[in-house]
Amino acid sequence: MNQPSARPVRTRYAPSPTGPQHIGGIRSALFAWLYARRHGGQFILRIEDTDRKRTVPGSVEMILEAFDWLGIDIDEGPREGGAFGPYVQSERLELYQTWAKWLVENGCAYKCFATAEELAEMRKVGGGYDRRYRDISAAATADLEAQGLPYVIRFKMPLTGVTVGEDLIRGEVEFANEQLQDAVLLKSDGYPTYHLAHIVDDYHMRITHVTRAIEWLPSFPLHIQIWNALGWEKPQFAHLPVLLNPNGKGKLSKRKEQFADADGKSVPVLVHEFMEAGYLPAAVLNFLTNIGWNYGDNEEIFSTAQAIERFELKDVNPANSAYPIAKLDWLNSQYIQRADVAALCQLLKPILEQAGFSVDGARLRRVVPLLQVRLKSLHDVVPMAGFFFADWAAFEAPSPEILIQRKMDREGTADILRGSIPLLRQLESFEAEIQHAAMSEYAKATGYKNGQVFGSLRAAVTGQKVSPPTFETMEVLGKEESIRRIELALRSLGNDCA
Ligand code: GLU
Repeated sequence: MNQPSARPVRTRYAPSPTGPQHIGGIRSALFAWLYARRHGGQFILRIEDTDRKRTVPGSVEMILEAFDWLGIDIDEGPREGGAFGPYVQSERLELYQTWAKWLVENGCAYKCFATAEELAEMRKVGGGYDRRYRDISAAATADLEAQGLPYVIRFKMPLTGVTVGEDLIRGEVEFANEQLQDAVLLKSDGYPTYHLAHIVDDYHMRITHVTRAIEWLPSFPLHIQIWNALGWEKPQFAHLPVLLNPNGKGKLSKRKEQFADADGKSVPVLVHEFMEAGYLPAAVLNFLTNIGWNYGDNEEIFSTAQAIERFELKDVNPANSAYPIAKLDWLNSQYIQRADVAALCQLLKPILEQAGFSVDGARLRRVVPLLQVRLKSLHDVVPMAGFFFADWAAFEAPSPEILIQRKMDREGTADILRGSIPLLRQLESFEAEIQHAAMSEYAKATGYKNGQVFGSLRAAVTGQKVSPPTFETMEVLGKEESIRRIELALRSLGNDCA
């Protein structure tokens, strides 16, 4: 059994730069990061770009943007630098070539000259690569090489016996060696495969804990054998469960950027979709940390700092989880409710501006406390509170359909609005409570119900049926603007205020 020595914890996230950051990858990164932070260790970002065909320009920037947005800080990486760089595999080719050569020289790997046609033939027969170059003589190999034939370097996998791996989440896992192929370590163009490159890097970067998706478990025995052949102390491994589609069927789609959940609502899976959909980074972090790991029984809301105090890889649930996206909306509203007003203003301002409103910062600071309990997503600010920022000179009066409440008619509504104007105007203080008292008295005196008076005023000043509370809203708008809006509403009902 692998008994690792007590080395300072170093974990890494090693994405292939193949496009926008998928939330599944970020979840793996998050677990590696939490573990490093839990143990006072280092978290490293390494870019695995050895599959040139799949490399998409701009991916690294998107990865960094995702990390910055979430607040996952990186200790070493292509941007941060560090003592074990470079942190991009295509800049480390010589190192992989050196170790591939070493493995050949030490009898653990061999040059394979099989052509594409030969390999196609083998595939037709079934059973994969038939190891035909594994045992040819040194002289025959030298001869083929002298002819200038291209070759790959393959690992000599033991043909019999079992390989036992230790997984922090899954315990001991055993594999029959005969099930495994002689995997390619170095391609004919001098680029390594993942199998060689990540081991060489994990060793040279002194990684102590490898956290990666469960898809890599079948290759785990191959990797153990390569580590052994190189004679290096192995890190510990944790093969993480993956996220499944919300219906629990199949791995959470990577290629399809969006797909509908049970309610037909489109589900975000890429980090930039979360950014654009108005989620708070803290809510997304809480959401992701809670998939496959629990902070405590029935403790759904916790900060990253709290998670760091408790996070252990061994506590990760080995089972794959359906993507519980519905929880994110709830969590997000909880985070919005608890957020600091100034921080929220900063997030909401650009959203309102994008929707075409010109935002007065002082007014926004007064509006935010009215909204906090009501916003599920930051973008709800536009339908819910855009009217605060509508240019009142150009404020389009609400239509009679909006103005006339249930069980009310045009005349009654106009009557309420008309009568309220002088009463509001004479108020010395426009505080919500004072307005409330005055309008309740007005309702009593006129025989209208409170709801009819308040609802008509709400519709008049906001132009909507749902909004923050009427009088708090009017307090923020101020006396002059509220009355002006009521006058416009009256006009819309075909009445003048005179
Ligand atoms: N580049 C690999 C991937 O994206 C990394 C796996 C690992 O973390 O070792 O799946």
